[in-house]
Amino acid sequence: MHGGLKLYIIKSIKKLIKKVDQNFLNSSLKNLLLKSKYYFSPPKLYGIKLDITGHCNIDCQFCSLKEWYHNPGFISFDTIKRLRPDLENLTSLALSLNCEPLLHPELFQIIQYVKGINPNLEVFLTTNGILLNKNMVDLLLKSGLDKIFISIDSIKEEKFNRIRKGADFNTIINNLKTLIKERNNSKSNLREIGVITVSSKENVNELIQIYSTLQKIGIDCYIINGLEPYSEYYSTQILYGKEPDEKYVNIFNQIREFITRDKLNFRIADLKFKPVKNCYLSWVIIDWQGNVSPCTYLSYKRKFYFLNKENFFHPQIYLGNINKNTLKKIWNSKDAFNLKYKLAKGDLPEFCKHCLKNVI
Ligand code: SF4
Ligand code: SF4
Repeated sequence: MHGGLKLYIIKSIKKLIKKVDQNFLNSSLKNLLLKSKYYFSPPKLYGIKLDITGHCNIDCQFCSLKEWYHNPGFISFDTIKRLRPDLENLTSLALSLNCEPLLHPELFQIIQYVKGINPNLEVFLTTNGILLNKNMVDLLLKSGLDKIFISIDSIKEEKFNRIRKGADFNTIINNLKTLIKERNNSKSNLREIGVITVSSKENVNELIQIYSTLQKIGIDCYIINGLEPYSEYYSTQILYGKEPDEKYVNIFNQIREFITRDKLNFRIADLKFKPVKNCYLSWVIIDWQGNVSPCTYLSYKRKFYFLNKENFFHPQIYLGNINKNTLKKIWNSKDAFNLKYKLAKGDLPEFCKHCLKNVI
């Protein structure tokens, strides 16, 4: 279709949606307009969360990685190269989701390759920090990586080592200090060094102290996530709910104030659970074998506990595999289109009704 005509149609549809009073707009007309909008102007793919391995070198108490990955491995460079045409149009690329990315033997080559294709692509990863020694820091600073996040849930050594079984608190804090010092003394591209804390009843009274300790060390960004419980015990440790405890809300508000005062970047998960009404997909998840899923929760089949300890399963949904098809084709396929359109109009599959995305 001619570009000008396409633009005219999209603008007219948008105007019409705005003009018509929602009270009088019957649902079938509304759906038709939404479908036309999706057809003429399909949602753009913003980013990829790429699990470059299925391995981890520790065993956190709250993680069920080993249950999801029955076949762990490393993404091959050939699979990375399959993304070449898509990388040019993406905004963001995470090199981790449910894995330890520093274990990948070709991590630096992967970062250099993707940045070489699209220097504006924002490339980041989250690590448990164990392997972040001086040598690793030097390589990462030279690689072109834009952002790095380290997971720290406690600043009490004994508790930290208990929650993150196999990790050593002092090593990780020293690694974080080295990373910040070396980055500050270099001209590296690495513009954000952040920490992610998974909040729970186990650390809620420590959160302010965790933040202020890390802020003094010199982090640029602080993120508090909610806990997605995979065991009955952890289902009792969540802080969020339909009516969250005022005490927790006050702690979160205080941290928000401190971070704003200190001018750090941040993201703090909500404590009040709200059911999802509709969902606009703009990221995909790709595992090390090249399987493409529509969101984090649907990338691995697993049991989880929803609010009042109810027991659910996330199904695993694959839209395709990048070793067989281009990501562009997968993202624009009929199945993907139908799923995106259904989610956008609020016709949610059963599993989405228990989605915890606003609180974790
Ligand atoms: S570091 Fe992350 S992937 Fe590894 S066991 Fe802990 S939570 Fe799971
Ligand atoms: S609503 Fe459904 S598709 Fe959207 S993020 Fe949640 S589980 Fe995924």
